[in-house]
Amino acid sequence: YTKLRLILGDQLNADHSWYADIDPDCLYVMAELKQETGYVKHHIQKLCGFFLAIQNFADSLEKSGHQVIYFTLDDTVRFSDLPDLLNHLCKQYAVSTFEYQRPDEYRLLQQLRALNFSSAVTVNEVDTEHFFVQFDELYGYFPAGKPGRMETFYRKMRRKHNILMNQTEPEGGQWNYDTNNRNKLKAADLSVIPAPLLFANSVRTVLDRLQRHQVDSIGRINDELLWPVNRQQSLQLLSYFCQHCLPAFGQFQDAMTSNSTHQWSLYHSRLSFALNTKMLSPAEVVTEAINSWQQQPDSISLPEIEGFVRQILGWREYIRGVYWSNMPDYESLNHLNATRSLPDWFWTGETKMNCLSHAITQSLDYAYAHHIQRLMITGNLCLLAGIDPDEVDAWYMGIYIDAIQWVELPNTRGMSQYADGGMVASKPYAASGNYVQKMSDYCSDCHYQVKEKDTDLACPLNSLYWHFMERNRAVVKSNPRTALVYKGWDKRDESFRQAVLMRAEWCLDHIEQL
Ligand code: FAD
Repeated sequence: YTKLRLILGDQLNADHSWYADIDPDCLYVMAELKQETGYVKHHIQKLCGFFLAIQNFADSLEKSGHQVIYFTLDDTVRFSDLPDLLNHLCKQYAVSTFEYQRPDEYRLLQQLRALNFSSAVTVNEVDTEHFFVQFDELYGYFPAGKPGRMETFYRKMRRKHNILMNQTEPEGGQWNYDTNNRNKLKAADLSVIPAPLLFANSVRTVLDRLQRHQVDSIGRINDELLWPVNRQQSLQLLSYFCQHCLPAFGQFQDAMTSNSTHQWSLYHSRLSFALNTKMLSPAEVVTEAINSWQQQPDSISLPEIEGFVRQILGWREYIRGVYWSNMPDYESLNHLNATRSLPDWFWTGETKMNCLSHAITQSLDYAYAHHIQRLMITGNLCLLAGIDPDEVDAWYMGIYIDAIQWVELPNTRGMSQYADGGMVASKPYAASGNYVQKMSDYCSDCHYQVKEKDTDLACPLNSLYWHFMERNRAVVKSNPRTALVYKGWDKRDESFRQAVLMRAEWCLDHIEQL
């Protein structure tokens, strides 16, 4: 071989221009690596999902005539890290060119850019050809340290790609229909939620391998993995979503329930793993969803389709921009100086707070929680309690099947923990029990009373919310939306405010027992 090309585990883009021609002199390499299984403690379903998906991708490349070498953990254990493996391969095959697709994680980009082959090898870096925004254009949209607001970026994307546009105007006359998307699920709604489409991918050999190499993990798995691990399953999931979930996606996007154990993903797409591994492209997801809307205008409304397109074309690309315009500093930002340790029950779900217990248990069972569970349940507790963002990040990076640093970090540290001082979120997403009660049925059978604030059984979120607001008054009050909140609180009796803050202190001191 004269050329070696590396494909990382989240670069499973079968449409990449690399594969347009079959070059017998080119060898593709894919590998399971200890460095990737160990930089954070991953969910067992995430480990299995990545290993199966890369193995399937290698098989399908080989079937279409490419030269592929696939290394399991058994093969790579003798190499200290990825550069060590690549160095060895370049020498073994005496290649003159080494090529890689630009990694989406800073850590891996640094590692590949620092490659220093002992023999004379030309190194080329190419785009992954996945995102709406090509890497070379990224800093034009997101100047370093100043990512701007999502909504502004989203409108530019709509115009540029002519998506949901009526010539120069947004479809329907409005750019954003988010206010239509705030419904709670009523009892009658629960019985018609579609069951999630689950696959049954065998994981026995992968589990054995992980055990053999003592890879530490969290969460639970049966012998079968329910997540899509190849292109065909990913397309099936996309079409299932468009048919069954898209019609109600927007209106119940923020809703949460503990009364529907079989429908744990509600109307969400669960496409994030297929997207983040690049088995699906964002453009094809958006196109397919828009086609469904055009074909079924009676069942899919404009707010539904707009809400979905905004997630992919807007949020997902924007979050990536925030990441690259701020790394490496972003991963150590801690604007609110949060230092408390993450409670142990984040790893078990054993807390008397029903909302947290449900969201964490579901995450351990499925490596999945939907956006509002991540933001307003687990994220909110960490924000209110002032948990160290490093610990919060490590938990989110490990537990979710779709967690890759470029998307996990700005969502967690930025949107959810406000540790970036407001680059992603215009104000902290802090909420009391009132919000949880409004958007879910978690409170009805909770040990704590959501209406109470300062009693022994008062929902801890209520007092912690005011503790957070008091603690961070200087940072938060400048926002006009929160100024009103302080006005109401400051008018309350001094003794009431003291009692609420004392209850919060008790909760913080006894956080492990909550
Ligand atoms: P749906 O609700 O069906 O949305 C469709 C798609 O839109 C998603 O698949 C995703 O690709 C995209 N999307 C929606 N919101 C966002 C967003 N805020 N950022 C980026 N893409 C978005 N998403 C990840 O992919 N990986 C993560 O590690 C991750 N960590 C998160 C951590 C926190 C604290 C929060 C608040 C959000 C996080 N998100 C993350 C964003 C979002 O919660 C998930 O993308 C979503 O829940 C995945 O489920 P789904 O595919 O069913 O999404």
